[in-house]
Amino acid sequence: MVTSIGGPRVLLRQLRETMAEPLASQERLDKIVGLIADNMRADVCSFYVLRDDGALELFASRGLAAESVHMTTLRLGEGLVGLIAAEAEPLSLENAPSHPGFVYRPETGEEKYNAFLGVPVLRAGQTLGVLVVQNAERRHYGEDETEAMLTTATILAEMIATSDFDNLIKPGSDIDLRRPRMFNGVSFTDGIALGTVVLHDPRVVVSNFIAEDTDAEKVRLETALEKMRVSIDAMLDHGDMVGGTDHREILETYRMFANDRGWVNRLAEAIDNGLSAEAAVERVQNDTRARMLRQTDPYIRDRLHDLDDLANRLLRVLTGDGQALARKALPDNAILVARNMGPAELLEYDRKKLRGVVLEEGGTTAHVAIVARSLGIVAVGQAQSIVSMSETGDDIILDGPSGVVHLRPTPDIEQAYVDKVRVSARRRAHYAALKDKPSVTKDGVEITLLHNSGLVADLPMLDDTGASGVGLFRTELQFMIASKLPRLQEQQELYAEAMEIAGGRPVVFRLLDIGGDKVLPYQRSMTEENPAMGFRSIRLGLERPGLLRTQIRALLLAANGRPLKILVPMVTETFEFTQTRMVVQKEVERLRRQGKPLPSRLELGVMVEVPSLLFELDQLLPQADFVSIGSNDLVQFLTASDRANPRVATNYDPIGMPRLRAIRMVVDAARRYNIPITMCGELAGKPLEALALMAVGMTRLSMGPASIGPIKELVLNLDLKPIQQSVGAALSDGANGVTIRALLQEWIEKQNLPV
Ligand code: PEP
Ligand code: MG
Repeated sequence: MVTSIGGPRVLLRQLRETMAEPLASQERLDKIVGLIADNMRADVCSFYVLRDDGALELFASRGLAAESVHMTTLRLGEGLVGLIAAEAEPLSLENAPSHPGFVYRPETGEEKYNAFLGVPVLRAGQTLGVLVVQNAERRHYGEDETEAMLTTATILAEMIATSDFDNLIKPGSDIDLRRPRMFNGVSFTDGIALGTVVLHDPRVVVSNFIAEDTDAEKVRLETALEKMRVSIDAMLDHGDMVGGTDHREILETYRMFANDRGWVNRLAEAIDNGLSAEAAVERVQNDTRARMLRQTDPYIRDRLHDLDDLANRLLRVLTGDGQALARKALPDNAILVARNMGPAELLEYDRKKLRGVVLEEGGTTAHVAIVARSLGIVAVGQAQSIVSMSETGDDIILDGPSGVVHLRPTPDIEQAYVDKVRVSARRRAHYAALKDKPSVTKDGVEITLLHNSGLVADLPMLDDTGASGVGLFRTELQFMIASKLPRLQEQQELYAEAMEIAGGRPVVFRLLDIGGDKVLPYQRSMTEENPAMGFRSIRLGLERPGLLRTQIRALLLAANGRPLKILVPMVTETFEFTQTRMVVQKEVERLRRQGKPLPSRLELGVMVEVPSLLFELDQLLPQADFVSIGSNDLVQFLTASDRANPRVATNYDPIGMPRLRAIRMVVDAARRYNIPITMCGELAGKPLEALALMAVGMTRLSMGPASIGPIKELVLNLDLKPIQQSVGAALSDGANGVTIRALLQEWIEKQNLPV
């Protein structure tokens, strides 16, 4: 059996020397393939680069006919080389011409060679090219040789990525790594954003690839691994939430991988082959990423993602590269690209520079999407594998309404979007012209349109949209962006400022709705199996009355004699509402004793978002001054499908009969008790869904500011009463298999409504 000369370590040393020599690109590459061929005792060594048109071009060869270099190409999937590139897997054959995938290219003279070993040249899991060795004799290349080739390929990948071979590329073509890519994600917000990629988890840049001293590199690796293990253990022991998204389960998985001998052995093996510790991590990470891109089982893909995250952590420990730095300095028009992100993490960024966010995960009613909407940032979710295909600094376009993302767009796509932005500016101008028109349907039904809000920054938009006030002020956002618990004074100032900006328009302040995916970075929270159904919101408020009392006191002081509306979230039973009222009453008494001005009118409303309340409306509503339906939670609980989990979040139509019947029940009850009712969940901001709500008698809709224009236009063009009748009849008697959505769609077409 033929073995390599001196092994991969010698080869890597030779490669390093070659990289430092003052050679022209082609000369250098020719020398590299020669060195590989000699080291592997191969008759042939060829290097193919994947171009942006999907062709694998022979860039250099020792052994194949010289005239075939830069001439011979294979398509992805074509021939053995195309197969390796497409599958991102090594291939070793004793008798290559007998393989069914073998394709003969006469110009190369390849038919003479029997033994074949090819490996993909990968970076971040993406195939950039293929490296092949061949021998005339039939022989078997062993695992060690495959590993050595993969190690060498890591270096070649780096050379491709750092543009070492750019002057060998034919005019008019480019390498695949820089190819434009399109992703079909899910719309989280409207709007279009053109900008520059900023990776939320910046990729660690490895500059030193080749080990000077293998033993020293192994010690570095072991020390870094130990450091990482200790920090994971510490996080688990303290139950801390790091950055808001690292839940216990992820940490447990990290711990499992960090102690996994298989993983650690592969890292050590890569060092044995001559790579530095960080290059070894990248080399093994490449395999993980390649598997991730191919994997269709969501569970396994998640675990591979976790392993990838862990490799990033290890790289950071090894290179001492902190993340914080990159987070601060955002370019203008920054578009964040992340696997997932909690709302608090999004709020950490400089909002003046942030145009958009793209996630690989997330659901449309996940709080990160809601926060993006409230900040006026364009957001798209479920853009699969976008993280590994993006580089910080790439151009990117987000098409909010369609959920499409264009990474490295071509000039014509970019131009099309520049035009689109112009058109949408015209649309905005068109909506702006509607702002002073009374919001009344053609048949005379008045529909009150309100904003969902939560930050002072988004309140001035009331003037732009002409909305009647704020139907939902999510007070927890202030808590989520703070680095420590906001004090009474800070809370009071925010609420007072909100009321001032709103002028005479009402603002409904919702009491803190913390918990679920709204975690506070500075607050230790228990790990919960199902946080959305856990210790959150008013449950937490009533058990920690200090927090609740302070907030209510801040609201009363901020009102300073003005009217005040307070909304209680996540009420499950009437007693929670009654108890909250008692806390409010006590604070009012306290204010009175201190001789401070009382609100001229104080109203306490209840959110209906836990289904249990549907069967308690006659007990609850007589005690409430107003009601607000939170469709996001109500629908997630009615359908037992997590609003933040894309696998189930859209399985059931929120305006399907059972859900709309539930909403109608609350509307009818509010009417019986003569109290106002508002919808403040995301449903109110979508035209067809808003029509469904109006059709069951809802006349107060609260939504993201960007939705006011389109909904107002709908209202102004609408004959409501006939559709109220047909939806009413369908909900009561069934509609012979016709869905509410279809019924509404028909009405929209008949009335030619702007939906
Ligand atoms: C809701 O659940 O619909 C709601 C408005 O509250 P949040 O989205 O903040 O949970
Ligand atoms: Mg809710």
